[in-house]
Amino acid sequence: MSNPLQQTTLQNWGIIGHEHAIDRLRRTLAAQQIRHAYLFTGPKHIGKTLLARRFAQTLLCTSSPDPRIAPQGPCNVCLSCRKVMHGNHPDLHIIARAPDKQFILIEQIRALQSDSARKTLEGTRNIFIIQGAHEMNLQAANCLLKALEEPEPDVVLLLTTPDPGLLLPTVLSRVQPVPMHLLTTMQIQAALEQHWEVEPKEAALTAALAAGRMGWAVQAIEDDEMLAERKEQLETLTKLPAASKVQRFEVAQRLSADTDKIRSILVVWLLWWRDMVLAANKCLDLTVNVDMRDLLKTQAAKVGATESERMVRAILRTIEALEQNVNARLALEVLMLDVPAIR
Ligand SMILES: [Zn+2]
Repeated sequence: MSNPLQQTTLQNWGIIGHEHAIDRLRRTLAAQQIRHAYLFTGPKHIGKTLLARRFAQTLLCTSSPDPRIAPQGPCNVCLSCRKVMHGNHPDLHIIARAPDKQFILIEQIRALQSDSARKTLEGTRNIFIIQGAHEMNLQAANCLLKALEEPEPDVVLLLTTPDPGLLLPTVLSRVQPVPMHLLTTMQIQAALEQHWEVEPKEAALTAALAAGRMGWAVQAIEDDEMLAERKEQLETLTKLPAASKVQRFEVAQRLSADTDKIRSILVVWLLWWRDMVLAANKCLDLTVNVDMRDLLKTQAAKVGATESERMVRAILRTIEALEQNVNARLALEVLMLDVPAIR
């Protein structure tokens, strides 16, 4: 960090934390050994797509004296950089699952193939970001494999996924991994205060709830409803132990109506029940729901550590079941029966 030039290029990336991942990419750039495909991995909302975009921007940046050689970080001022930042660079293509579809489809990968065979429009490379690469169906994945096996010379594929284990081993063996790790609560809190001008108290709560994911924290402060929604979700959740079977099934029915939201609700619940385990083990100061520690303390005293741990496992099982596309209402009903009772 002592070299001021290095510091500047690091700042140009505009990313909080993730120095290891950036360093890995900068070394590739410095050695001019750009691979055909990279895989950005890490939990949801950690910043995989953002880092992939910055890397794409660097690869397309024209600030170097020799335009064939990419700099070690984006300059953020050249025309090419500005186009990437505004989302309208013709040589950067983003592929993701359509909101109304279950998978990334083979047509989307075929379009990638025909686009990559074409000459680049402005820059020296054709870059494709495949967001959520695990969401490809088998046909699409096999089609992508062909593109990886016989890469066009100036094409770079940037894949993102929360779990590399969900990709075909044959795809995995052809990509350069870029693992991303959770930030500390302090890193997130400091960034929120410095760069987003969030008040210290709100920054502390948001950073704790973000559980290491900067993207989640930024979304939470930019979208007022997110924290309000969390409150609402926790209200439902904290009433469950005292609710009757009929009331619990009503909750399951209501929640299962909005399948897109279920996962984020379950993550809120998971954080709560992890806090319950901590509170039951007298580690209240490690809990993330910092604004609700009084309630955590009283509920944990009644439920106990064993039951709380059982509930954490039940929620994890439910999240896993939903990923395998089981009936959401059924999965939630099963979970409802797992909620320990407080009478
Ligand atoms: Zn530039």
